[in-house]
Amino acid sequence: MIIINFLYIGIDDTDSNEGMCTTYLANSIINKFKENNIEIIDFPLLIRLNPFAKFKTRGNGAVSFKILNDDKTDLAKKIVLDEIKSLSMFEADNTNPGVIFYTGEINQELIDFSKKAMNSIITIDEAKEFVDKINADAHMFKNGRGIIGSLAAIGYQIDDFTYELLSYRIPDNYGKNRKIDEKSVLKMDKQTYPDTFENYDYTENYMAIEPKTPCPVLYGIRSNNIESLKKAETIVKVLEPIESSCIFKTNQHTDDHIQKIDNISDLEKYSSYSFKGELKNNPITIEGGHVFFKIKDETAEIECAAYEPTKNFRKIVLKLVKGDIIELYGGIGKENTFNIEKFKVIKLNNIKYKNPICECGKTLSSAGKGKGFKCKKCGFKTKDNDKIATIIKRDLIEGEFYETPISARRHLAKPLCRMNLGV
Ligand code: ATP
Repeated sequence: MIIINFLYIGIDDTDSNEGMCTTYLANSIINKFKENNIEIIDFPLLIRLNPFAKFKTRGNGAVSFKILNDDKTDLAKKIVLDEIKSLSMFEADNTNPGVIFYTGEINQELIDFSKKAMNSIITIDEAKEFVDKINADAHMFKNGRGIIGSLAAIGYQIDDFTYELLSYRIPDNYGKNRKIDEKSVLKMDKQTYPDTFENYDYTENYMAIEPKTPCPVLYGIRSNNIESLKKAETIVKVLEPIESSCIFKTNQHTDDHIQKIDNISDLEKYSSYSFKGELKNNPITIEGGHVFFKIKDETAEIECAAYEPTKNFRKIVLKLVKGDIIELYGGIGKENTFNIEKFKVIKLNNIKYKNPICECGKTLSSAGKGKGFKCKKCGFKTKDNDKIATIIKRDLIEGEFYETPISARRHLAKPLCRMNLGV
């Protein structure tokens, strides 16, 4: 019997807000592997972890890939470490690269570690202990925090997944305006959506495939399948050289961070959930344009927020009223406020209680608590205290989902165009 043994490679925390991208580093390693006849097996994985991890640069992404563990293993490890040393943003305070080489099996404890990296916070010491426990080969640069994401990216079980095609710029162009033909992006979106998605934000009018940071990425196209990515790539026109491109298999756009819970009292900080509840009050806008409301169930209540960057989504949230029952998706950061990513309307409170109308046509006023109503015009009085239930028309639809715009959406959030895929 031939036992196939793999070398898993995990990489994280190589970039900063000033430059680089861990996917680019992975792409450079994969290209060097090719020059040395080392083939990676399957697609490289781009794994997004806990959106509330404190030291993330942007989307808390880590990368892993696997090759055969054979006579090229030492060469492969050397290539990985050389590329990390030459490309990482060591000068940035919060860049602490970590590389993991692992030749064991992807067992339950590794899988559980990855789940923990998605749903809660892991310390560097915990990760170091775990490295010893599973006998991995860890390379830590500076404080080496990157080993947390690297371990998690190796052990991550990818059930639902999407792909992202990332095209990279030549280094001379880093930091300069990207030259992507907008019309071609619109055409690509028209011809490949919904197989590809989040290409263009029509509510905010901008190309969502184009990053806003000085990183090496020229554009990223997200998709449910490879065929549409290949088609999209032929349609998008760019007016600058592409150095290389790479397709990653990823947990982006899958809601993998969302844990479904029954009770609001089960919510914990630094984690993401979906749950049902009833609005305790009408949403209000506070200074800075953030919209807040409270939601409750029999066990607890929590403040929910649609922050200013969610733009027009806030207008939709403001249509909710006290008594509406909704299912919320999102997570809790350090403020102990639930950050809304999307919501589904379960039951609208479309009944409004109004004072009765007098025979003279005027709306009756309260005559005091428990004392019925009186008419200020004709003097009519009634001891009856019951208000009249009136059905009001609502702009929201029961059963519908409402989501944040692409510009404010998390990488992990499943867009509505993927909600009906049965995944
Ligand atoms: P980009 O999206 O541009 O790749 P990033 O947002 O992924 O950047 P990193 O530079 O990778 O940011 O930094 C994230 C850091 O947080 C890494 O060191 C990673 O190991 C660590 N990390 C990831 N998940 C957790 C977690 N659950 N608990 C603690 N630390 C974590």
